[in-house]
This record gives sequence, structure tokens and C-alpha cells, in this order.
Amino acid sequence: MAYSEEQRALRTAAERFAREKLAPRYQTREQEARIDRALVREMGALGLIAGDLAESHGGLGLSSETTGLIMEALAYGDVNVAYVQLLGSLCGQIIARHATEDLAATWLPRIVSGESLVALALTEPRGGSDAANLALSAQPTDTGYVLNGEKSSISMAEQADAVLVFARTGSVEDRAHGISAFLVSMNAAGVTTSRFADLGSKAMGRGSIFFDDVRVPRTNRLGAEGAGFVQVMQGFDFSRALIGLQCIGPAQASLDESWVYASERHAFGAPLSRNQGVTFPLAECEAMAAAVRQLCFHTLRLRDAGLPHTAEAAMCKWLGPKTAVDIIHQCLLTHGHYGWSLDLPHQQRLRDVMGLEIGDGTGQIMKHIIAREMLKRRAR
Ligand SMILES: Cc1cc2nc3c(=O)[nH]c(=O)nc-3n(C[C@H](O)[C@H](O)[C@H](O)COP(=O)(O)OP(=O)(O)OC[C@H]3O[C@@H](n4cnc5c(N)ncnc54)[C@H](O)[C@@H]3O)c2cc1C
Repeated sequence: MAYSEEQRALRTAAERFAREKLAPRYQTREQEARIDRALVREMGALGLIAGDLAESHGGLGLSSETTGLIMEALAYGDVNVAYVQLLGSLCGQIIARHATEDLAATWLPRIVSGESLVALALTEPRGGSDAANLALSAQPTDTGYVLNGEKSSISMAEQADAVLVFARTGSVEDRAHGISAFLVSMNAAGVTTSRFADLGSKAMGRGSIFFDDVRVPRTNRLGAEGAGFVQVMQGFDFSRALIGLQCIGPAQASLDESWVYASERHAFGAPLSRNQGVTFPLAECEAMAAAVRQLCFHTLRLRDAGLPHTAEAAMCKWLGPKTAVDIIHQCLLTHGHYGWSLDLPHQQRLRDVMGLEIGDGTGQIMKHIIAREMLKRRAR
């Protein structure tokens, strides 16, 4: 694929940032269980967060495809820091499209510059797959709403400065049409958090956000009352293609390291790479990574062209994390007993990427979406 000069320049900037600033401290960040805010601001200054937002909102007006190039390059160095870009684009686009101009003008430049992190809160303790079955309530008042309830399993719950929260403003029978979206400051009175003890993505962190009589002005509602669910679902078509690339980044990093290792390590008097039993699995991994990468960029180009891409986005979200898990697992084995050590990054990449098989919707839910869309297309 021939990329424009701008695309190549941004990808090079992201690759350099990933190589110099992200990769060397990937494992340290896990121990610190946080992402350094100075690093996030640096990322923002380089145009590596939510560059797809319009220039009037502080962004660069980048295409979805270019955003994907940045995503993969960042995730090669640190899949968790790449989450900052993912949340920036996902939440940023929802805010840009549906918030009042004042609210957008307050938050979007802060997201792009890395000054603020905005989390997205949809999942509740009683379930995430049946996403329209929300209980967290938003009761209207004279000036706005009062929020009560719990959001569970929210990435960056503890580190975020604000949260895009989906709450029930209609009746339970209204299902998806009774849900509205709100932008709530994490400093608002009545907001508290707790952190989960997780297998991976510890630098990002995941937890619950509790809303106890939290007062939200009406101007912080995004879009019309009852339209919140549709808004977030449209955003997911973008984020799912990006997540595919977010997973292929670290998988490619493990693969690149495995080719070097297979060339340098000797067994039976020759480099490991002399054995097809070693190189064929890596060759298969390269083919799978290339196929998923192409699927993700195809999906992003469909989005740029304004064409339907819901099924393709769900394919990216299913295949991306699954393929990355398989690849990194293979790379870990290729490194023999060193691969099993906590000193090398493969085990952390494996744990971090595996979480994305669940986050943003599981494989089963993605297959539901693909099947639904295929049936719709054939019914036309
Ligand atoms: C790393 C990570 C990050 C996350 N970040 C966020 C975040 O930032 N914001 C947020 O809102 N949520 C987030 N989540 C939550 C995530 O979106 C949910 O965990 C996910 O949607 C699944 O919901 P659940 O865990 O309640 O599983 P359930 O809905 O209880 O499902 C349990 C199992 O049953 C399967 N299942 C359920 N229904 C069906 C069906 N109809 N057919 C076939 N199988 C089915 C599921 O696929 C799953 O395997 C995150 C989760 C993880 C692991």
C-alpha cells in the first residue's frame, strides 16, 4: 500500500516514540500500575492522540486509516499506552459528534494534548454482553440529572479525569432507546472508584466507578435523551478496527524478536532457524498477522469512504486479539525457557492482549454481529 507523505511522517514519529519512549519501560509500567502523565502529554504534543479529530477541536483531521497506522506503531512499543490513543479517538469522536459546542471545546483539546484522559463506562456488574440492559439511573431534575449506580470493568477507572457514562433515562422496557450518554468529571461529588486485581493491562488498570447521587448539568448530556446507546455503538465500529491493530502491534514485536532469536541461538550445532519446525510456525504467524492487518486497514478505509463496515469491524475485533494471542504464545515457545521468564516481555504481551478478547465485546458477541450483518446484506 502506498501511503502519503503525511501518513509516512506520522507513522515514523509514532514508531520512533514507541521504540525510544514506550518499549524500554513497557514492563516497568506494569509494576508501577500507571501511565506517566508526562509521557501522555508528550504523545499529545507529537499528534499521536486522537489525531482523527477535526483541527477546530485540536486534532489533525486525520483519516481513520492514518489513525490505524499510528495505533499499530504505538502498540508495538506498549499495548497499554496505545489504549490512550484508542480511548482518545473513541470518546473524542462521540463527544465531537454529540456534545454541545461548549462541552466539546472544553474537553476535546485536552484529550488531544494528553492533558486529560476520558474513560468509557458501559458495562455494569450484572453484565456487559447484553449492553442495552443497563440499570444505572439518570433521574431528571430542574437543571439536569442525578446519577445513581455502578459501572464495572472500566479501563483506566482510576486514572481518568472524566468518564463517558451510559445511563438509563427511560424505562427498562425501552431497552436501548431508554439510554442516554453523559460526560461526567471524575471529580464530581459522589463519584468514587475501586481497582480490580487483573491478569494483565495493569498499567492501564480496570475497576468500578460508583455514582452516588451525582449531579450532572443537562448540558453534559450528549445528544438527545434516549440516543446514547446508538451513539456508542457507532463509535465501536471505529474502535474495533483499531483494537485489531492494537493487538497486531505487540504480536509483530514478539515475532520480530523471535526471528532474531531463532537466528542467533544454536542447537545441535546450527542456528535454530535451520529447522523448519522452528521457522514454519513463525512463517504462519507472519501470514496471519499480515491478513489481520489488511482486514483492519480495509475496514478503516471503508469507514473513510463512508461505506458500511459494522461486520468488518466485528471481524477485526474477533480475529485481532485471538490471532495476537496465538502468535505471542508461539513466540514465547520459540524462546524456550527464556520465554517462560518474567524477564522477557512475551508473557506480559500475552496477558495484556488476552484482555482484549473480552474488552469491547467478546468473540461470541462479535460473531452475533457478523451473522446479523451478513443476513441483513443478503435480505436486501
Ligand atoms: C481488559 C478489559 C477492558 C475492559 N474495558 C471496558 C471499558 O473500558 N468500558 C466498559 O464499559 N467495559 C469494559 N470492559 C468490559 C467488557 O466490555 C465486558 O467484559 C464484555 O462486554 C463482556 O461482558 P461480561 O464480562 O459481563 O460477560 P457476560 O456478558 O456475562 O458473558 C459471559 C460469557 O458468556 C458469553 N455470552 C454472553 N451472551 C452470549 C450470547 N448471547 N451468545 C453467546 N455467548 C454469550 C460471552 O461471550 C462471555 O464469554 C472491559 C473488559 C476487559 C476484560
